[in-house]
Amino acid sequence: MSKYLEMAFAIRDEIAEIRRDIHRHPEVGNTEERTSRLVRDKLAEYGVDTIESPTPTSVVATVRGNKGAGGCIALRCDLDALPVQEETGLPFSSEVPNVMHACGHDMHCAMMLGNAKLLCSLRDEFPGTVKLIFQHNEEIMPGGARELIKAGVMEGVDAILGMHNFPTENDKTGVIGFKAGPFTSASDGYGFNIIGTGGHGSQPQKAPDPILAAAEIIMMLQQIQAREIAPSDSAVIMMNTIQGGKAPNSIADRVFMTGNARSYTAEVRQKIADHVQRVAQAVETVSRCKIEAGSMRGYDSCYNNEELSAFLFEQLPAIVGKDHVEEFKEPMSFGEDFSFYSTLTGIPAVLMILQAGHEGDEVSSLHNAHCAVKEEAMPYGMAAMTGAAVAFLNR
Ligand SMILES: [Zn+2]
Ligand SMILES: [Zn+2]
Repeated sequence: MSKYLEMAFAIRDEIAEIRRDIHRHPEVGNTEERTSRLVRDKLAEYGVDTIESPTPTSVVATVRGNKGAGGCIALRCDLDALPVQEETGLPFSSEVPNVMHACGHDMHCAMMLGNAKLLCSLRDEFPGTVKLIFQHNEEIMPGGARELIKAGVMEGVDAILGMHNFPTENDKTGVIGFKAGPFTSASDGYGFNIIGTGGHGSQPQKAPDPILAAAEIIMMLQQIQAREIAPSDSAVIMMNTIQGGKAPNSIADRVFMTGNARSYTAEVRQKIADHVQRVAQAVETVSRCKIEAGSMRGYDSCYNNEELSAFLFEQLPAIVGKDHVEEFKEPMSFGEDFSFYSTLTGIPAVLMILQAGHEGDEVSSLHNAHCAVKEEAMPYGMAAMTGAAVAFLNR
């Protein structure tokens, strides 16, 4: 077992206790007051070099190595919870009604405090600086990452690492996986307001039909996968809400529908946006309805820098054991505002997945009221982040 893993196992119980405390007291994005106070107190106790709060509920700390001047690597976690009523039955379940750490950010935060503690005791082993970013509000667009970047947290940073836990089968617990290149999806919202005049169901010639127009839009949007992008690229575009019509014998006066598109490259993302507009125009012409198409640009796709990914795949087996490192074949389908640390700055970034098993009978996805991952994964997450930071600064 590596020195890093031994050290991480030695603080496991303390970090698990912090994780349970945060899990009991979840706070949604931009309200992480208790959580950020806890982070500041622990960082002061561990003896990091600096502690700042660039925004009201974020915390950024630094740990300087004793091996002289050198580079700077940032490690990022997030602090916020979700508006979900917890149903895990865990003994340390949320004590706040309708708020739950259903995305595992409680674990991210606790592990990052573990990294702070480990790095403080490893100062003699690295030059330069490790910057620890405890980001507020990952879940609510436009996301806290953009605000922190604007506040200057990435100035002087050479590379940044992030880690997201993920519920899996239990035999994967503690296995760290990622791939180089596009790794999480860009996620954009779309909405269509389809306006007719309303009319009698027996006289279709007198009133444009927004329901038929909506159906045509839904079908035509699917052509993006079939005809607009290369078979090797992927995209998902779905309409997920639809409202309109009041009576079975009347032509509706209006339909409103909203949906979501996911993609992995800027090119495909733009093609979807263009296609949505073309479909709206085409159906407007044919249907005689007035059609307004709106969009909301979400998070960028996380791009795992090739060189940094290769470095991590080279270093991690010695840090967490080769059984605990996996090169994924496919990207993840969720969105993460970790993407902005790289897309807005050009600084190399890698997001890793900490596969974390599941408590209870079955695997429940992130954001689900039953989502509960295993704390046994945490020492691997801490050893990987801390060990990778030290290796990077010594490279
Ligand atoms: Zn989430
Ligand atoms: Zn998350």
